[in-house]
Amino acid sequence: MKVLLVFAHPEPRSLNGALRDVAVAELQRLGHEVQVSDLYAQGWKPAIDRGDFPTLPPDERLLPTVASKAAFDAGELTQDVRDEIDKLLWADVVILQFPLWWFSMPAILKGWVERVFACGFAYGVGEHSDKRWGNRYGEGVLAGKRAMLIVTTGGWEQHYGPRGINGPIDDLLFPIHHGILFYPGCEVLPPYVLYQAGRLDSAGFDAAAERLRERMRTLAETPSIPYRRQNGGDYLIPTMELRPELGASGAEGFAVHLSEGSGSTA
Ligand code: FAD
Repeated sequence: MKVLLVFAHPEPRSLNGALRDVAVAELQRLGHEVQVSDLYAQGWKPAIDRGDFPTLPPDERLLPTVASKAAFDAGELTQDVRDEIDKLLWADVVILQFPLWWFSMPAILKGWVERVFACGFAYGVGEHSDKRWGNRYGEGVLAGKRAMLIVTTGGWEQHYGPRGINGPIDDLLFPIHHGILFYPGCEVLPPYVLYQAGRLDSAGFDAAAERLRERMRTLAETPSIPYRRQNGGDYLIPTMELRPELGASGAEGFAVHLSEGSGSTA
């Protein structure tokens, strides 16, 4: 398989750097091809601004969605963005690796998504009618690819449990899993989460590394999170609400978007 690992930590000698090396070594040992986008090392520009659209006349108002679509259609996205799009199209598996910062991904990685997942490429595609509402949530340019997060946290596992003060990890990661990865079509695997990373000793690291190697060995067969497909009949069009007869009675929140009968995804 071809694996793209997008790495977002500023320090190569960090725990995240060590885990990245473990993952890459295991994937290569198994004969997979690996490319790493090391965002800090690449000096990735995280913010969308006029610099992304050099052909936009200086006196024209910048509408990021419109400009993104026009640049994508014309093949005029900047070279750094086109390089990342090429890597995404090349990959069978996309891994995003990051330390949890303020309950989400570091800004540099969010900026990678914002710029690389261009309009016309990752969103704003497909027919909108009374039968379909675009190619998204299970359909799209990344359909057929698998995706997974590798995340480290300072907080304890219990802090991210069903009644933990930080909120359940599945809920915190839902916008990334569902809104960023499933949206353009990826099948999303349960995340690899290493909790309480700041307290890790060498025995803890060895165990964490082995758990990560196992996830790399099972990338192809690990069942994906069973999100409902948007155009599979479960949602009303155009309101995009789950049909009233679906989902456990009274259920609400992110978990209603999992197919019936599926449990927790962590
Ligand atoms: P490092 O600091 O590099 O290392 C952590 C530990 O692992 C150290 O004890 C180190 O000795 C050990 N280690 C490193 N490499 C190895 C190795 N090769 N072998 C053995 N041991 C090793 N946490 C939350 O839970 N929620 C948040 O919302 C949150 N927000 C944050 C926001 C910011 C801006 C920052 C800076 C931190 C935040 N944190 C949060 C904490 C953050 O998630 C952790 O600091 C991070 O996950 C640790 O990963 P690291 O790669 O930076 O670890």
